[in-house]
This record gives sequence, C-alpha cells and structure tokens, in this order.
Amino acid sequence: MAESARSWPFDPQDRPTKIVCVGKNYALHAKEMGSEVPRHPVVFLKPPSALIPDGADIRIPTEAGEVHHEVELGVIVGKRLSRASVEAAPGAIGGWCLAIDVTAREMQTAAKQKGHPWAVAKGFDTFCPVSRPLPATAVDPRTATIELDVSGEPRQAARTGDMVWSVPELLSYISSVMTLEPGDLVLTGSPEGVGPLVPGDSVEARLDGAVLLRHHVVARVPL
Ligand code: MG
Repeated sequence: MAESARSWPFDPQDRPTKIVCVGKNYALHAKEMGSEVPRHPVVFLKPPSALIPDGADIRIPTEAGEVHHEVELGVIVGKRLSRASVEAAPGAIGGWCLAIDVTAREMQTAAKQKGHPWAVAKGFDTFCPVSRPLPATAVDPRTATIELDVSGEPRQAARTGDMVWSVPELLSYISSVMTLEPGDLVLTGSPEGVGPLVPGDSVEARLDGAVLLRHHVVARVPL
C-alpha cells in the first residue's frame, strides 16, 4: 500500500466524516459562472468515497458530459468545532491540503436549472483528488497561491487572499450549521479559470509553488 493510502484522509481510522465544500467564494469565478456573489457562503457536500491521493487517475464517466477542474485550498479540521465565532474558528485548523473539486459541469448546470441538488455532479468516484496534509503553520491563507495546469497549459492561478469569505468566516458559518469533526475536510472554493478535463489530459496543481497533485485523466469504463 502506498504511503499516501495509510495517512489522512485515506486511513480508515482517520477518514473525514464529511467533505464540506464552498461555492462562489472568489468574485471572478462567480462572474465566470454567471452568478452573483451570494449573501452567505454556498455550502454543499462531497462524499468521502470521491477521495483519491496524489497520482491516482481521475476517471471521467462517459455519461457525465463536460467535466471541469476546480483547484481549491483545503482546510483539515483538527478539533471538534460547533457554533464557533470567527475569532475562535482558527484554533480548530489542524492543517491544510490542496484539492481539486472535480465537477460534472453539464450535470450541475442542469441540476441548478431544475432546483435539484448537486450530489451527482460533485460526487462521482475520483472526483476529489487531495494532496498530502501540510501542517497548520505551513500555509497562510491570506497570502497563499494555488495554481492548476492541464497538459502543461496554465488554467488557474490565484491568491487565496482573494476569497470572498475568509477561512475563519467559513469555518464559523459552517460550524453554525453542522459540527465539524477532527479529520473533516473543508474545500474553500475555486478561483476563476475552471475548464474541461478530458481523457488523455494530465493535471498538475501547486500550492505556494510546490507541486502537490499530479493526475492523469482517463475514461471510466461504462457499466
Ligand atoms: Mg468548487
């Protein structure tokens, strides 16, 4: 078993109970999606079964239509957090990671139009690549950079300081709804530059210039 499969978030003893995601948390991404920045964070869940480590293939279901990459800074929850103030929330940050919120965009758009949830569009197996964990002191979300290239072409590059809601504000808001447990993962939203992934692509994503995610994109064999 690979080293990455024995540690968070792949160790059965240390798996997230949930992956909490935030949408529309960068103004330019909300604009490219034709959306206004909402008054409260847009929160949704991805299933932990979607997690894959650095190096594993992203598998695109043939029935999913266009599938997009969304590179995001991830917060690893270190302590139980419930109804926390913005001031208290940072004390629960156990570490950081880099993640890709892989999204079946056509299915998500259709769901939005019908008022349906996004669980299918966001929830296919392999739709949540997550890097090795970094210590809490290793990343400053006010100044960090996240980048994603597809087959050597730069697609996304942003400063996490441009988030609409800061990490403490997100953790405070999410914890006002659902208790965050140690090991849970919070994805803080994608900056602009989202675009398609197709079989044959290679993906590289970086946090503060360090390459933390490398993936090949393959077609999922139909049922
Ligand atoms: Mg996202």
